[in-house]
Amino acid sequence: MSADRFGRVSELASFLPANLRLGPVFWRWRRLIDRSETQSAEFWTGYQARRLRGLLYFARQTVPFYRRRIGSDPTRLSDRDVFRLLWEVPPLGKDDLREHFEELWSTAIPKWRRRVVTTGGSTGAPVAFGIERGTALAEWAFITSIWSRIGFRVGDRRLMVRGLALKGQVIRTRHLLDELQVSAFHLSEEHLRPVWPDIQGFGPPFLHGYPSALTAFTSWDEKAVRSLAVRGILCASEALLPWQRSYLTETLGAPISHWYGHSERLVLGGECSHRTAFHMFPQYGFVETIDPDGGMCEDRPGEIVGTGFVSRAMPLIRYRTGDMGTLHRATTPCRCGRTYPLLTDVQGRWRQEFLVGRTNAPISPAAINFHDDSLVGVTGLQFVQESPGSTELRLTAGSALRPEVVERIHRALVAKVAGELDVQIRQVDRLEVLPSGKTPLIMQRAALPNPVLQRLADEHA
Ligand SMILES: [Zn+2]
Repeated sequence: MSADRFGRVSELASFLPANLRLGPVFWRWRRLIDRSETQSAEFWTGYQARRLRGLLYFARQTVPFYRRRIGSDPTRLSDRDVFRLLWEVPPLGKDDLREHFEELWSTAIPKWRRRVVTTGGSTGAPVAFGIERGTALAEWAFITSIWSRIGFRVGDRRLMVRGLALKGQVIRTRHLLDELQVSAFHLSEEHLRPVWPDIQGFGPPFLHGYPSALTAFTSWDEKAVRSLAVRGILCASEALLPWQRSYLTETLGAPISHWYGHSERLVLGGECSHRTAFHMFPQYGFVETIDPDGGMCEDRPGEIVGTGFVSRAMPLIRYRTGDMGTLHRATTPCRCGRTYPLLTDVQGRWRQEFLVGRTNAPISPAAINFHDDSLVGVTGLQFVQESPGSTELRLTAGSALRPEVVERIHRALVAKVAGELDVQIRQVDRLEVLPSGKTPLIMQRAALPNPVLQRLADEHA
């Protein structure tokens, strides 16, 4: 089917009510989530034991990597012993994932249902993993349930600032998703002013994107963006600083929905409406925090470790996310009525640094993140910028990167930032480190376009 005809079909489909478009899988999950929100802590312990029992059995039977790592058959174990069996499985690190990638697929999931995704984080070590096709609808059910806490209804339109290549366009309408997409690579006066009438015409009741991208969009022209009179701001998983939260809510006069999750579909939580803490969905995954030596740790900071229930193609059991946070197991209900585990003080992978484009467009690295397999073989990356409009991408790898690999990375990048950034790619032995000891994703030596963004970048240095 040609792109045009597909466009027509999706436009026609967009007149169908959202509940028909999303289908039964989505609504089954949404009902499960909405109906179970106020269950007791005991209920969730039993529920998670059942899900873990099923997952451990599935992994032991169908995933070569786990055949020898899961000690005994969980089917006859008591709930308490299921947790004990889980804790005997060593946490899975990014290096394990790289080394044992092929052995981690479940043989029960056919190849056509598998998808490889790569994430590059600010830790500079991209990693590939597999997810099960079709699980996006379940994910969507959880996400929209979180948004519903600030009044979002399925079918509400969103203006989404995002990092997808929009074929050089600044905006694009996605009728099926009730979405107007704004390119996160074109957030400057030169690009935004001409499309502003279209954005106003779309009249989005909600703004959606990474906090860094939404801050960049709002700080472009606060008065104009405020005139959209949005009802809510949907902030995807990335650190949200206290002053940044105030900046967005006060400038736009709307509440924020903030959530924490991973592309690996491990654990997911939405912020409580009464405090800055994430209620982690027990229906989605099992969350733990561990000490550097791997010991269990609760009520104090530890590394967040997740075991996802939603995608079975490549079960990641006790996966180390590299994020830090403090986990509190709830015994009594929160003021909002939930007894889900609470995660506070999350120190995410994303630091809010920016590259600066040719037209002074601030470009967030969260938007540049590669969600395909172009970074396979790369062990670290860092952008170095001396002046607006150009950057050098430095890569580290175990061996010399083949020219076609470098070319593929270059193509993927240019498809997104074309016109705004000239990109040179160079393989190096090591990346630059800040005096603080951190390895930033962006070594920024050019000035940012406005004081709001400069403050963000400075606070994360
Ligand atoms: Zn709560």
